[in-house]
Amino acid sequence: MANFSKVKRLRIYQRDSFTCAYCGEKIQNLSNLHLEHIHPKSKGGKSNDDNLTTSCISCNLYKYNLTSQEFLLKAIDKYLEHKQMADYFLKITTNLKKKLSA
Ligand SMILES: [Zn+2]
Repeated sequence: MANFSKVKRLRIYQRDSFTCAYCGEKIQNLSNLHLEHIHPKSKGGKSNDDNLTTSCISCNLYKYNLTSQEFLLKAIDKYLEHKQMADYFLKITTNLKKKLSA
């Protein structure tokens, strides 16, 4: 993960109301928040505020270097195959579909 200043992290977390952009969970514990590149850094995504978003650890790990569109498809697959975490992946699916069609 890139090394962002604490000020920058907090600014983005506050802008996003400490809510994960993917599953929509509000995160109380700051150590469970990650700054996430919406368009992956490995695919040319910049580290400016517009391309950074608040993410929970799980979503950051599952999304990894996928675009939001690719992550949506992965979440749908996971939702269909993982009964155990279906609620989690359904939240991502619902939330991302809304965001991507906005
Ligand atoms: Zn999340």
